[in-house]
Parts: sequence; C-alpha cells; structure tokens
Amino acid sequence: MLVDNIGELVTNAFGNGEGGPLGIHRNAALLVEDGLVAWVGSARSAPAADRRIDAGGAAVLPGFVDSHAHLVFAGDRAAEFAARMAGQPYTGGGIRTTVGATRAAPDSELRGTVRRLRDEALRQGTTTIEIKSGYGLTVADEARSLRIAAEFSEDTTFLGAHVVPAEYADRPDDYVGMVCGPMLAAAAPYARWIDVFCERGAFDVDHARAILACGQAVGLGVRVHANQLGPGPGVQLGVELGAASVDHCTHLTDADIDALASHRIGCMCPDGRHTTTVATLLPGAEFSTRSPYPDARRLLDAGVTVALATDCNPGSSYTSSMPFCIALAVREMRMTPAEAVWAATAGGARALRRDDVGVLRRGARADLIVLDAPSHLHLAYRPGVPLIRQVLHNGVPQ
Ligand SMILES: [Zn+2]
Repeated sequence: MLVDNIGELVTNAFGNGEGGPLGIHRNAALLVEDGLVAWVGSARSAPAADRRIDAGGAAVLPGFVDSHAHLVFAGDRAAEFAARMAGQPYTGGGIRTTVGATRAAPDSELRGTVRRLRDEALRQGTTTIEIKSGYGLTVADEARSLRIAAEFSEDTTFLGAHVVPAEYADRPDDYVGMVCGPMLAAAAPYARWIDVFCERGAFDVDHARAILACGQAVGLGVRVHANQLGPGPGVQLGVELGAASVDHCTHLTDADIDALASHRIGCMCPDGRHTTTVATLLPGAEFSTRSPYPDARRLLDAGVTVALATDCNPGSSYTSSMPFCIALAVREMRMTPAEAVWAATAGGARALRRDDVGVLRRGARADLIVLDAPSHLHLAYRPGVPLIRQVLHNGVPQ
C-alpha cells in the first residue's frame, strides 16, 4: 500500500530529507509492506502498489509513542479534581482511592477500561502505549493488572511500588519485602519494565533502589517516577541504575541535569542528544494539578533527551491525548513545535528503548498518522482541535 501525495512527511530519520531532528520530506510518498515501512521517498518516484491512500497534501507523522500511562484501574476521581481546582493541593494520597476501586473490580471491567482508553489514544494518533500496574498492590491484583495490560501492549510496567497500601502503612519495610519477593515473582512474567514512585510520601531512595535492583535481577528494565512533587534523589538514582527513563522531572537541581546530560553514550544519533536515561515530561500532570511545569528548555539546552507522555491516570492527569501534551509543551514549557513533536514520537521510543517505532524509515513499523493539516506545526498551533484524520497501526488503517 502506498501512502501518496504527502505534503510534509516527518520521518525522525537523519541523513535524508531536509535535516533537522524531524527529517522532513516534502511532496513525499511512503510504501507499506507486511506492516512495515518498505520505502520512503519523493512522490514522483514512488513505486507501484496495489492500494493507495491519498494524503491530499497533508502532513504525515510517525504515530505517537506514549511511554507513560496508567490504564489499569477502576473508579472515578472527578470530585477530587474539582476540589483541587477549588484550591486543595495535590499530594498523591488519592491513589489509595483508586486502589480500593481497582481491587473490587472484576477482570472484565478492568479490561474494558484499558480497551476504551487504548482505543481513545489510538484515535488521537497514539500507536504505542506503555501501560503500568500500580493500583492493585496485592500479589494477585498486581499480577492480574499486568496480565490484562499485556493483552494491549508490549511495554508493560510493574509498579507495585506506587504507594504503600493502607494495610502496610505502619510497616513499609514489610511491603517492600513483599514487592521484591512474591509480588515481583507473580508480576514479572507479564512485565518488561519495573518502576517506583520515588517521592516523599511514597518510597524513599533506599526502598526505591532495593526494588529496582530486584527487578533488574530478573531482567526487567528500569524506569522511575522522580522529582514530581519536590526535589529528591529519584533522578540521580535512575541515572545510577541506567534507567531508560526518569519521568516527571518537575523539580530538578543542577546536579540532576548534570547527571542526565553526562550519561550520554557513544550512540549513532547524529544530533548527539541520545542519553542513556531519557527525561520524560508529563505536562498533563502539571495541568491537572495546577502545578508549575518542568523546565524543558533547561534540559534541552543541556543536551538531555526529552520525551513527552500523557501520564494518563484517573487522579492527576486523565488525558490520553498526545496532541494536548504537545500543545502544553510548546505553550507552557517553551519547547519548539519541532522539539515537542520529536519528543512525542522518537523521544517516547527512546524512553522505551525501541528503534522500531517513533520513526518512519525502511524496516520500521508502519505506525503513522495523517493530519487534517499541512504541517506538524498545527498540532500546537491549533490546540484542542481533532487533527488526526487517519491512523495506520502496523500498516492497517484503524
Ligand atoms: Zn505516572
């Protein structure tokens, strides 16, 4: 199948197109074969194909890679949101409300919620979505959360260390022991990643390090919820452990930035921005908790690789929309539209250590979106407008 008559093709591939991080081609075409990109080039020299999608001069981009989402939950926290907008501060304590509802829900309800949100994200151009557990917090409920998540995503993350559940409130050491022991054993078969909410009121640095090390020992990759509510050790712990990503990064010291920037590896990336640990920014959380946004400019100027993700969850960021996050990143975090689009596609792929998504070059997955607009600029220029005209996932029109 040939996607033809593309006015602006964002490839995120270097060495062709107009250069710059987005690797833009004008008047382009793209050939899909067996779910993969088989050819990218000028529309004039496009090969013949059985089927054709006419992009009508519109922009085509890689599908969004949402590298941070909490989709396995039950219940609703709209009232908590309303209270916050009326002046109550966000503390993270509401997570326990969702834990209660999630434990009480049958599998069918949890599966239905994940499917609904995954489909909602797909309609908005997200073709890769990471899904975390973290609202079960018992051995059985964490395992079933991940079993359900794995039906919808290859990138599933064990977040048994989201908060200490109420029944362990007086004995957090015992809870950490259980997370590292039977809970990890039950969760690991369904998980690719392990994550910890390393924050005051959640898990301290010693607990976080112990849990992440246990996960690494059974082959899980590391990601960390770090420095969201205040400065803390999470970012540097993530870098120390070689985390693929540290997420939130709202409150960073110079030492945090240095740690992220100095851990560049000798990579093939010509822009030199490929670091071992990506800083994943989640502006939906700051929007929904009315908090100051992370300083994306400072990270980018230091050479840190930045990703954007939704943090979709019922408490602090109930959006599945990557275009909304792009608009926030540009307006509120002083990212350029190109930087934000790159962070929402290639950046997300880096945060998941994947090279088959977030890019449109030969051999990559044919995950792409056709915009109802001539340029990627419109994603930030026209906030709140449904600009995703068509989505191809593994080469299949959705
Ligand atoms: Zn999160």
